[in-house]
Amino acid sequence: MILLNPGPVNLSERVRKALLRPDLCHRETEFADLQQAIRDKLLDVYGLANDDWAAVLLTGSGTAAVEAMLTSMVPREGRLLVIENGVYGERMSQIAAVHGVDHERLPHAWDETIAVEALQTRLNASSGITHVAVVHHETTSGRLNPLAEIGELCKARNIALLVDGVSSFGAEDLAFDGWGIGACAATANKCLHGVPGASFVLVRRDSLRMARAPKRSLYLDLDNYCRLQDEGSTPFTHSVQTLYALNEALDELADEGGYRTRYRRYAELIGMVRAGLTALGIQALLPAEASSVVLNAFRLPRDFTYPQFHDRLKDNGFVIYAGQGNWVRTLFRVSTMGAVTRADLDRFLSVVAELVT
Ligand SMILES: *Cc1c(COP(=O)(O)O)cnc(C)c1O
Repeated sequence: MILLNPGPVNLSERVRKALLRPDLCHRETEFADLQQAIRDKLLDVYGLANDDWAAVLLTGSGTAAVEAMLTSMVPREGRLLVIENGVYGERMSQIAAVHGVDHERLPHAWDETIAVEALQTRLNASSGITHVAVVHHETTSGRLNPLAEIGELCKARNIALLVDGVSSFGAEDLAFDGWGIGACAATANKCLHGVPGASFVLVRRDSLRMARAPKRSLYLDLDNYCRLQDEGSTPFTHSVQTLYALNEALDELADEGGYRTRYRRYAELIGMVRAGLTALGIQALLPAEASSVVLNAFRLPRDFTYPQFHDRLKDNGFVIYAGQGNWVRTLFRVSTMGAVTRADLDRFLSVVAELVT
């Protein structure tokens, strides 16, 4: 089955084989070495210095990393502004509400670009905001949000930018220092091509230090993870096999030429899909310039409900992804992450062509 959903992704054989390495106790030195290797490689993806930045490894899906980031980075005396233009931005407000993080929202419709001027006005008006949370690639629509501009506004005001980079880390540009990023949450099983179950937060060490006490969560306390992982330990049991796979996936990424090569590969593949579907009369939701290279959303072809279209494609070996909310009736999404080839997508496009013509 070819997975065109935004993670979990098709694994390469190299990463799949890594799952079969020897059983390992997470209190042994071999595990400490594995953990440290992964933490170093995660910083290496965007060339971050170990003195300023730390990669904190968690066992859990991408949402666990986002929840750990929001609950650990914003201190009790801090105030968070959450920018929303899709499901994942809205989820960050839900997380803040559940944990009683003092926050306000800057909501947008799901098909809207973030209004940077409105953000500027808001930041000028409310002096209490210490942190801004935003999704980099909003997977709801496939939109790549303007992090550089948002980061500039935050940096000028000494506000820490907290980024949900779950569906962009490893493929899209992320200027950690340049954009004033305080922390970025991501996962093993999207652009990094690992197995689901491991996620992580890249934190600026000084931003984390500012946020230490009191704790909002026991399990998702980034400061605790970071201190123990710096000592070669970790507070709780990790999904060891998942980390074997992540370590291998990070080696594979580096061997292939790093995130920029992955960006170009995704750009080529999603470009193929866009061009092919457009030629068949299937419209993209957003223009290419506004979209990530990771996933694009398309309008369902006439005469198909999503379940019908999905099932016919699945019969032919392809899994696409539904729209969320009301978009379940009008959209479908295609991602080209993972071990997917040009040949797979040629076949996908010819199956779609047969269905719609
Ligand atoms: C996939 C995704 C998440 C996390 O989803 P999980 O199911 O918890 O892994 C968070 N944010 C974005 C933008 C995503 O695409």
